[in-house]
Amino acid sequence: MEIGEEIIVGTLGQQPMSIADPTVDPQHATLRRTGEDTYQIEDRQSQRGVSVFGIRVMRKTIKAETPFFLGNYKTSVHQLMKDVESINLAEVWNRYDNEKRRWDRYTLWVNSIRMLSPVITMALAQLVGQNWMVSVSVLVVVMLISMVAGEKVLAKKNLRMAELNAQMQREYVCPHCHKFLGFTPYQILKQQRYCPICGVPLP
Ligand SMILES: [Zn+2]
Repeated sequence: MEIGEEIIVGTLGQQPMSIADPTVDPQHATLRRTGEDTYQIEDRQSQRGVSVFGIRVMRKTIKAETPFFLGNYKTSVHQLMKDVESINLAEVWNRYDNEKRRWDRYTLWVNSIRMLSPVITMALAQLVGQNWMVSVSVLVVVMLISMVAGEKVLAKKNLRMAELNAQMQREYVCPHCHKFLGFTPYQILKQQRYCPICGVPLP
C-alpha cells in the first residue's frame, strides 16, 4: 500500500487477505495509508463497528502493528496485508492440473492399445498357428478383453474427474468474493491481476 492510497476492508474488501467472519460487513471499513507507519481506519457505517483498544471508533489513526477489531474479528494492518492465499491457489491449481494430465495420458495409452488390438491379435494368431478358427477365437477374446478393460478405465476416469471438478469448485475460489475462479490456470489469473468475478486484485 502506497502513502495516500486507500482500500476498502471487509468480507468483499480489497485487502489481500480473506476475511470470512460473520461479524464483518462486506465493506466494513476504509483503510488509508497516511504516512510511513501511520494508517487511518474509518468505519463505513458497519453493523458491528470498528474498535481500537476496546473503544468503538468512527475514525482512528493507527500503526501497522496496532490491533483493532472489525466486529469480533481481531486484526491489524500488518495482518490484513499478508498475502496468505496466493500459495494455496497456485497449489490447488497445480494439484488439479497434474491429476488431470495423468488421467489424460492414461486414457490415451488405453485407447491406443484398444486401437492396436486387431494388430496384436493378428500377431498372436500367427504365433498360435494357421488354423483360422483359432485365429478368430483369439481375435474375439483379445477384442473383448481390451474393450471391457478400456470401458472400466474410462468409467473410473469420468468418476474421478467429476470428483476433481467438484473439489475445484469448492477450493479454487477468489479470496475476496469466494466465487469459483473457473478452470483457468493460476498463472493466467495472476497475469490478469484481477478476479474475473468481483474485479478485486488477486493476491
Ligand atoms: Zn472475486
